[in-house]
Amino acid sequence: MTNNEIHGHADPQAGAGRYFRQMDMVGVEGQAKLRNATVLVAGVGGLGGTAALYLAAAGIGKLILVHEGVTVLPDLNRQILMSTDGIGRTRVDQATESLSKLNPDVEIEVWNGKVEPEAVRPLVRKADLVIDARYDFPERYELNRLCLAEGKPMIEAAMYGYEISMTTVVPGETPCLECLYPESPKVWEPLGFPVLGAVSGMAGCMASLEAIKWLLGKPGLAGKLMRFDSLTFQSVEIDVAQAPRCELCGSL
Ligand SMILES: [Zn+2]
Repeated sequence: MTNNEIHGHADPQAGAGRYFRQMDMVGVEGQAKLRNATVLVAGVGGLGGTAALYLAAAGIGKLILVHEGVTVLPDLNRQILMSTDGIGRTRVDQATESLSKLNPDVEIEVWNGKVEPEAVRPLVRKADLVIDARYDFPERYELNRLCLAEGKPMIEAAMYGYEISMTTVVPGETPCLECLYPESPKVWEPLGFPVLGAVSGMAGCMASLEAIKWLLGKPGLAGKLMRFDSLTFQSVEIDVAQAPRCELCGSL
């Protein structure tokens, strides 16, 4: 990719290129890193769908989307890649359409299913980075194990009500999800937790930014757990340590 291609100078009719306004932040080399990157997004609902949208907008080369099933009406308070006339259609198909409309240069591969090891492990292997935006802990644990097995960094992004929490798990360097949450949190209920689209969208923006920072080599949340209260806009960040007896990653 040449400088002209990135800036869009090659086509004077097109004016400034698609990524022109971010070039002072990411640079030509950084934009090439984004273009050469593959990011797997597990869950393209309110959080993961927003993350995928901003990754596509930023020019990530390839997205791998993992999500099962079809859109239902209660999805639409937050799942901005879906639409009312898409109720009953598969979420990954609608997500692909929406993302391609925004940026047709992004290659997209999908798995219409849950995080099942046989199907998803080869997809994790293809990715440079994984964003975990699943809604249930069994799938989050499964993805954590797959990422550890394949040596892939995983951005762990979650929200509950007005609270957002995020960390980046780097195999061999940081605690894994099971160090941090050896058991499913008691407050968690499958698909029963409250979600306001503006909150899951903020969490998705944060996850996409954390992904972009990782790909550009900028400091992020590796080894740190960030908690953000969207009611007060206050955040806290704590250093996290490996659990001494974590069977997955604990070598301490
Ligand atoms: Zn661990």
